[in-house]
Amino acid sequence: MQPLRGIKDILPNEVQFWQYIYNQANNILTLSNYNEIRTPILEQTNLFKRSIGDSTDIVNKEMYTFIDQGKRSITLRPEGTASIARAFISNKLYIHDNTHKLWYMGPMFRYERPQKGRQRQFHQLGIECIGSLNYIADVEVIRLAIKVLEACQISKYRLEINSIGNSEERQIYKYELVNYLIKYKEDLDSDSRKRLEVNPLRILDSKNLRTQEILNKAPKLTSCIQSESLYHFNNICKHLTYLNIPYKINEKLVRGLDYYNYTAFEIKADCLGSQDTICGGGRYDKLIECLGGPKTPAVGWAIGIERLIMITEKIININKNRPNIYIIIQGLRAEQKIWDIIRMLEEYKISFNLDFNKSNLRKQMKKASQSSADICCILGDNEVANNYVTIKWLKTSKQQKINLDKFKQYLHDIKNLIIT
Ligand code: ATP
Ligand code: MG
Repeated sequence: MQPLRGIKDILPNEVQFWQYIYNQANNILTLSNYNEIRTPILEQTNLFKRSIGDSTDIVNKEMYTFIDQGKRSITLRPEGTASIARAFISNKLYIHDNTHKLWYMGPMFRYERPQKGRQRQFHQLGIECIGSLNYIADVEVIRLAIKVLEACQISKYRLEINSIGNSEERQIYKYELVNYLIKYKEDLDSDSRKRLEVNPLRILDSKNLRTQEILNKAPKLTSCIQSESLYHFNNICKHLTYLNIPYKINEKLVRGLDYYNYTAFEIKADCLGSQDTICGGGRYDKLIECLGGPKTPAVGWAIGIERLIMITEKIININKNRPNIYIIIQGLRAEQKIWDIIRMLEEYKISFNLDFNKSNLRKQMKKASQSSADICCILGDNEVANNYVTIKWLKTSKQQKINLDKFKQYLHDIKNLIIT
């Protein structure tokens, strides 16, 4: 049996990186008063259609949607923001406080062509700062993305940022862009030709060289942006400069989701190849209102954990969990007595690996020396009868008999020698 295409197991030797990232994020975000939220993986399909937008690739081609036994259309979440906006509304989080700083980490599902850095089940770590129009919120959010990346030892990154204005400004720009591009319709790549009608801004994203050449002379989004949007954007840039966070203004950055306004940004990492975007985010002031909640501006980002780990695992050396003591039991009386020993080991937080094989002592000893434990602890009928355990130091083969009444004291004395 194989897992589904584009869906992977996360094996024990990788889980340590996941725990590392979770812990780093938790520490950094908790300091800034961001609280973790966990929303369901399944939502009504309509939630994503209404929030991400009907004309986007995610909704059009990438959603895992099915009809459940009650004939409802259900979708496995492709991203986190829509669910959090929904949770904000359905739990009436706005009643006591209209600003909420939230973070999440969990699996997302998109039906895409699997390749390096692109899976069908992947994971995102994300934050949402809900309730403020202030550009300071955008700056804090971007700064936190950088802090999380730096904590995961990502030092070579590029932050690209753009202002995509508000929806009226974008409407005007869309009109101007289509007017210009229509003249070159035949020269555009086929995806862009389709987008002319459904989602013209996404054409700016096209990787096709000829399309990019045509775009070079196209009207610029900035020419349609009014002073209010510009003020917001310029202030963010000013603060980023003050914070020494290098950034590049990318006038073609629009992002794939409909709900953004004002700020859009992406962080790219070197050494990831073609799927090099590690973080994407922006401001979405209309989303919560659109979904039936109160007028509530917000800004956030999501980091792709698999792409992050591709870099982190090459750099960070995480101590592998290894049992310090290998336990061998021989005989029925030892089987019971061992629980007393285990209780003592737990008390001193000394990790152990209990051998369940009913094989002979020699075989078990061999296993012990192949393990990475420091010590082997042997409890056989003889030991039980005489109230002691045999301890063998695996590196030096030094052997000791320790009276069980003094075993706690012994553990206390050697604890620092074996736990590094
Ligand atoms: P891409 O340009 O790679 O398609 P996107 O714009 O669709 O990214 P977002 O929706 O902004 O991505 O998601 C934020 C981050 O989640 C991405 O920058 C990326 O790191 C990660 N991500 C998105 N889709 C996938 C996927 N299919 N597999 C692995 N990671 C992904
Ligand atoms: Mg995508």
